[in-house]
Amino acid sequence: MGGDLEGRVFLNPAVFDGFRLRSVESVLVHNDGSIDLGPPAAFNSNLGLKTKKIDAQGLTLVPSFHDTHIHLLSYAANILSYDIRSETVLSKERLAAVIKRAAYIQRDSNMVRLQGLEHNFQEGMSFVDRTLLDEVLPDRPLVIQTTSGHAHILNSVAMDLAGIGEATDEPPGVTFERTLADGKLSGVMYESGDYLEGKLPSLEASSMKEGIILALTSIHSRGVNYLTDATHLNDISRYELISSVIDGFPLHIHLIFMPAVTALRDFVEAGRTYRSTEGKIIMGHSKIMMTNSSGVLHPDRKEFQEMVRESHCQGFPVAIHAVDMGSIDMILDVLQDDYLVGDRIEHASELRDDQIVKMGHLGLSVCTQPSFIYERGDAYLSNQSEVNINSLYRIKSLMEAGVSVSASSDSPVTYPDPMKTIYSAMTRKTKSGNILNPKEGISALDSLKMLTTDSVTISGLPTREFQEPKIFKKEFLVLDINLASGGTNNILKNKVVRIKDFQ
Ligand SMILES: [Zn+2]
Repeated sequence: MGGDLEGRVFLNPAVFDGFRLRSVESVLVHNDGSIDLGPPAAFNSNLGLKTKKIDAQGLTLVPSFHDTHIHLLSYAANILSYDIRSETVLSKERLAAVIKRAAYIQRDSNMVRLQGLEHNFQEGMSFVDRTLLDEVLPDRPLVIQTTSGHAHILNSVAMDLAGIGEATDEPPGVTFERTLADGKLSGVMYESGDYLEGKLPSLEASSMKEGIILALTSIHSRGVNYLTDATHLNDISRYELISSVIDGFPLHIHLIFMPAVTALRDFVEAGRTYRSTEGKIIMGHSKIMMTNSSGVLHPDRKEFQEMVRESHCQGFPVAIHAVDMGSIDMILDVLQDDYLVGDRIEHASELRDDQIVKMGHLGLSVCTQPSFIYERGDAYLSNQSEVNINSLYRIKSLMEAGVSVSASSDSPVTYPDPMKTIYSAMTRKTKSGNILNPKEGISALDSLKMLTTDSVTISGLPTREFQEPKIFKKEFLVLDINLASGGTNNILKNKVVRIKDFQ
């Protein structure tokens, strides 16, 4: 009957099939990378010589991952700009040397770009300002972006180029830092990413495309096949740039593109409605950015209400960037009267109990970033009160309240690394091994669901199509650890291998 099956049989692996994580006797892997689960007897009748048997004890097979919140163009730009993230001790002299090196490497570029300055540089690193930058590089525009992306430091040439002077008004939501000594602009600007983007020269289109290819290749190599671009600046031109690259990209990767709420009409007029698909891009939620600088929310309540109304009228659920409790209070208040299935909050990094309960009742979802615990946890632990620490990344409480939670890297804020996400969500360990708010730790199963099944739900994708291996021929991955054992020891070091490449 049926002749020989081609493919390979993995014996005794752990398998996560989207819903359960368990050890099984055997898994048949087809040549296209899709799998059939079952006891050996199910295959024995028609397993022939072409089928290779692999001892898979200690391995876990999982479907490929979905990173539900990244910024592809920033990640691409970061790959092309000079990354100083690995500099652990950054003195004045060291930074000067690094800037000079970056300026040399980028000698043909229209601006010198560095990124990856530690996000809490205000504490103890306040020497990084326009004065220092001018001393090192007085004649070319220079911009340094912090790891979090929330602050930029410009030298004087860059400020002139952007047309920012002492008399320039701060646009809403943006803060220009001033020096204590004379009240003059220090060159440090907060929440100024999109403001500066329109004012400073952008990377040449050809190098940008090169950067996108490098970014997609790096993301794919970590076992991610689906990504969501959650950039609040996403307009038609960004869509076209991304689609021009991703449609010709040879590896299997799909992107959910969240249009900026401010550009929603343009997308709808172009026929790009919610969940419509074109090439490898699927239209996602309407993205709204909410910032809270010293208690002042931007957009304000009225404007926010209007953004939600507009999105819902056009058939788009909203995805709202909100980090702090003040923002969440207002969001919950507004969504209570205007809710659409699929509405979700990006980050929700700090939450009170009552907010979690309300989110569960409303049916909101949350897209969180467990790897922030690893990357930034030490800074949180040293800077914040116990009350604040206990409010951070409340993943378990959210799940218990019935909130769907998906995981993401917020790349380029952290590198897209699903293994780090799993490790952080399970252990709550920081880079130096301290533990942050451990009662919010979750199981391996729930961590895997955040990166797969729950990501599908949260993104509003048709569940069956994206989860049934046989229908979608989802690519499976091999992890060199047994996640069903509950151990967390080698998760961080684990290299993800695609099942079709597994020898
Ligand atoms: Zn983000």
